[in-house]
Amino acid sequence: MRIDLHTHSNVSDGTGTPAQVMREAAEAGLDVVALTDHDAVDGWGEAAAEAERLGLSFVPGIEVSAKDRWVSIHMLALWPRPDDAALAEILALTREARVGRARTMVERISVDYALEWEDVVTHAGDAATVGRPHIADALVARGHFARRDDVFAEVLHNSSPYYVHHYAPDVHDAVRAIRAAGGVPVFAHPAAHARGRVVPDRVIASLAEAGLAGLEVDHRDHDAEAVARLSALAERHGLIRTGSSDYHGTGKLNRLGENLTSVEAFEALEAQRG
Ligand code: AMP
Ligand code: ZN
Ligand code: FE
Ligand code: FE
Repeated sequence: MRIDLHTHSNVSDGTGTPAQVMREAAEAGLDVVALTDHDAVDGWGEAAAEAERLGLSFVPGIEVSAKDRWVSIHMLALWPRPDDAALAEILALTREARVGRARTMVERISVDYALEWEDVVTHAGDAATVGRPHIADALVARGHFARRDDVFAEVLHNSSPYYVHHYAPDVHDAVRAIRAAGGVPVFAHPAAHARGRVVPDRVIASLAEAGLAGLEVDHRDHDAEAVARLSALAERHGLIRTGSSDYHGTGKLNRLGENLTSVEAFEALEAQRG
């Protein structure tokens, strides 16, 4: 069984439609795949229908933006009820704040690079959730850079002078909201230090208390040391170890199925559905 529990479509900052992601998942030989767009559930219907046609088992998910003080955290929510009012409210606030934040970043960037908000709107297309990758695409289209990666390295990284924060819920509140909506919370890439600051062990301990179910241990942004630290933490706090691709289509190098979740771990997660 090949199980990949973290992928993105163009509902957020992936490049393929939800149906395309499912077709690519089938081609990659996956048996179970989750669609986990940032702060949005808009891709679920299309993905579920295509997955069913392909005989692929579909897991509806969200990658919820959250924070612990100033540290940005991504929390996967697997199988949450999309009609849960409290969770929907948090996601709506974040999506709204992301637009203002992207506008401010574009204002700052446009001092040094020819770029207009309309460029970003064009590249975000019908995306429910606007993110830095859409700004990256706009800068690439303007000819300033060759790839998303290059724009992140120069302009969009977390300690860049152009960087702006956006509202996100406290991560403990996010975990509780996901549980209250029947979802299963898994901490995405908890030790991806190349993206910015990561949380210390004690935060993972307090999240376990708050209802965290799992840790995404196997992820391309984790080196061997990070994997060792996280697997020890998972063991200590009774958290389920997952692995996934964090696929973004052609927007990143990540390949579907490059990291996988075991059948045992998947069944343990599924048993916690509310
Ligand atoms: P945002 O959610 O707007 O803060 O943007 C973060 C997103 O940018 C993450 O979901 C990543 O997938 C993406 N990202 C971060 N670093 C890079 C990079 N070096 N190249 C391409 N995409 C990246
Ligand atoms: Zn992303
Ligand atoms: Fe993430
Ligand atoms: Fe992701």
